[in-house]
Amino acid sequence: MAYDSDNVFAKILRGELPTNKIYEDEYCIAFPDLNPKTPVHVLVIPKGEYTDFSDFTARATPAEIAGFFKSVGKVAQQLGLPEKGYRLVMNIGHDGGQVVPHLHVHVLGGKKLPV
Ligand code: AMP
Repeated sequence: MAYDSDNVFAKILRGELPTNKIYEDEYCIAFPDLNPKTPVHVLVIPKGEYTDFSDFTARATPAEIAGFFKSVGKVAQQLGLPEKGYRLVMNIGHDGGQVVPHLHVHVLGGKKLPV
């Protein structure tokens, strides 16, 4: 699927839509999910134009991929989640339930999550 530069996360990255950015570095930005499913629910998105995990792993450089996942770890650390634990979720494509076609990692925590 071609990248749709009109998706909401692309607009957030370009500063065309407001968000309460909680973290930013050269690889990503992170901001609270608009409809949080857990007490802590943050989205981490890469700065590059990737539709989903498959597109990211196919086209991004190893440095971008490593940098992005290190950044996800830093976000979780900043949120104070590692001590008690947390969950990372990536919905991928239609069957995966992905709604916004820009790769994003859901960082979920703040309570004991159901298995
Ligand atoms: P997914 O189903 O994995 O594509 O999840 C998309 C997520 O983006 C949902 O949890 C939405 O609540 C969230 N979302 C949609 N628009 C915004 C926005 N403008 N700011 C923050 N989160 C958003």
